Formats: sequence, structure tokens, C-alpha cells
Amino acid sequence: MDLRQGNWRSAVVTLDGVLHEQQSVRHRSRRPESVLANLHAAVETTRNQYGDRLRAVTLAVAGTVRDDHLMQAPTLGWGQVDLTAVTAGTGLPLLAGNDATLSGVAEARTGAAAGAGTALHLIVEVGVGGTLILDGIPASGATGAGGEYGHMPFGDRSRSCPCGASGCWDLEIDGRALAQHLREPEPDDPYAYAESVLQRLNEKRVARAVSRVTAALASGIAGLVNAHDPDVVTLGGLAVPLRAAAPVTFTDAYTAGLMTFHRASPPPVLDATHQEDGALRGAAALGLDHITTDTALAAWSETHP
Ligand SMILES: [Zn+2]
Repeated sequence: MDLRQGNWRSAVVTLDGVLHEQQSVRHRSRRPESVLANLHAAVETTRNQYGDRLRAVTLAVAGTVRDDHLMQAPTLGWGQVDLTAVTAGTGLPLLAGNDATLSGVAEARTGAAAGAGTALHLIVEVGVGGTLILDGIPASGATGAGGEYGHMPFGDRSRSCPCGASGCWDLEIDGRALAQHLREPEPDDPYAYAESVLQRLNEKRVARAVSRVTAALASGIAGLVNAHDPDVVTLGGLAVPLRAAAPVTFTDAYTAGLMTFHRASPPPVLDATHQEDGALRGAAALGLDHITTDTALAAWSETHP
């Protein structure tokens, strides 16, 4: 399942990794109790249909996830939420993860970073999320909350970020940054605002604003390349059209931000393959990992002789 700002999506995944019965449902109410009750109902329906062939539920969330708790999700307007309500009473394990992290998993398994030992995935929506993937597994920290790259102090220290820190990179590279450069009011929906700005590139001042944001994105990526030394960097969300709108600015800022020794053969920065489907496919991949461990397979064969 993939819980997003405006809707949630789900699919039933078979062992071959194919997604079946995909559905997308818009939130009628975005209150946590209401959304989680809808997800729970979908799990019940699927369990009634598949019985004990349904082995695990994985949930991608547009927020910071620690174990099976959402810690904060500014785009949903949620604070701490216990996600275990999604599978409560079903006996099914719930595996929750951040959507950007899971879309990175999808890239490393079957997308633009397939085969890379070390891959960095970044996705710009409202702010930037991402993950470092080592041999197909996200390096997501002690409690799963790692990869909050948008809250590194690559920005203006005098500006405070809704996350509680100041000078965050997030504030320099999304719709909020574009609005600031264009001296327009801070948008309610920074993602939709950025998409609309990207349609106005024929206006000189818009092209200049997009260029500034693209440069801030590229120089931050260079800093992360210096830190992590990845084989490849993959980009999702608004990062793709931002780079496409100002490719020379992107390359110049990326190169300028790299340590000299990286410049001869810098890691390629590729557009992600899965884009919209990334989080759902990454959630599917981790669910399949979970049910195919030696222990899980032994437990299955004991009950299914
Ligand atoms: Zn922040």
C-alpha cells in the first residue's frame, strides 16, 4: 500500500513481483482515523479473498517512519500516528517505510540503479526525500528514520523549516523556493505550484527562478556524492523536470560541487525508471523479502505440508 497526500494506492503482489488488482482511492477525509480505517478495510477484503496466502502488508507513507509509527508527515498534516491499526486483528505483519526510501529500493532492484552496489536516490515533491541503498537494501538508520536529506543545512540559516531545524535544503528546491524567488505568496500546495511554474518557462523571470532552484538541487546532490560515493544517483518527482528545464545549470552546479577527484568520472545522475509507481514497487519488494527469509519459508512449509 502507498499512502500519499491526496490518495492511497494498493496492489496484491505475487512472488514473481507482479502487481495485481491495483487500486487508487482518493481520501474523502484526511483524518488519520478515517484513512487508517479505510486501509484496514482494504486489508480485510484482501484477506477474505486470498486467505492465508496473504502473508504481509507493507505500507509506504509520505512521512518519517520509525518502526511501525509515523513520526511526522507535514504533507498529510499528521503528527505521530500508530500505523499498526492498518493490520490490527488480522494477524498479519505490517512493514511500514518512507515512500522516498521505498521508491529508492524499487530503483535499486528493478530500475535505473539496478545492479549498483551503492545507489543514492532523491525525490523532490514538497521538499526532498531519499535514501542510500547498499546492495539493494536501504541504509535507513537505527529506527528507519534515516534519509531525511532535505533537512541538511544546505540552505539559508536564517530561515526556519517546518521540521524544527533551520537552513534546510528542503526550502531551497521545491515550490516554496520558486514562490520566494518569484515574490509570489507561499503556495498551499507547493508541488502543484511547482508544476504550474514549470509550464511558464517562456517567461524570463520564471526561467531564472527555476535555474536557481535547479542549481541548489545540483550542488546539494554533489555534496551527497562527496559524502556517500555512490555508483549512481537516481532522481524522481520534480527533480526530473527541474533538471530538464535547466540542464546546463544542473551540470555546472553538480560539477562545481564535486571534490576534484570525482570530476573525471562523476557518478551518473539518471532519471528514475518507476516514478509514480516507485513507492508501491519498493514496498512490494520489501514485503517479498520478508516472506522469503529461511525462517519465513520454514514456517510456511510446516503449516502447508
Ligand atoms: Zn527541515
